[in-house]
Amino acid sequence: MAKNSEETTSNVADSDEQLIELFAGHGITRDNAAHFRGRLDRQLLMARCGDCGRWQHPTRPMCPACWSWDMQLEEVAGRGTIHLLMKLHQGPAADGVDYEGGHPVITVELEEQPALRFTSTVTADFPTDQVAIGTPVELEWTERDGIPMPVFAPAVSS
Ligand SMILES: [Zn+2]
Repeated sequence: MAKNSEETTSNVADSDEQLIELFAGHGITRDNAAHFRGRLDRQLLMARCGDCGRWQHPTRPMCPACWSWDMQLEEVAGRGTIHLLMKLHQGPAADGVDYEGGHPVITVELEEQPALRFTSTVTADFPTDQVAIGTPVELEWTERDGIPMPVFAPAVSS
């Protein structure tokens, strides 16, 4: 499946081989390839059942609720709350990761559906004292190793 929209993204993965190379270490499969292609366009895409409407992440070819094979990717709004928080004090060297003081890894429960969750980290300027379970957050995009990466910022209260 070739990406044929505008050429604004510097990282275009026209082939599966290019996608696997761009996201080396992410375990690209037939099931999740479209999700990762979406990231190149700064879209957080998740599978949704065309029959019962249930969201499913990680992507599966069949709905775990109604067993429908009609699973389509849709963009989530990216708003939710921090459901789980870990702080990594050691790990492999990674672009933008500082283990000093603990690199936060958060799992966000998205507002689309209870238990629909996505794991990432927070923006670089996220106030340290607000990195806590229950904090409302919203999606932002940064880059790691030149690839768009979904991260979370404090939710802007409206
Ligand atoms: Zn379903």
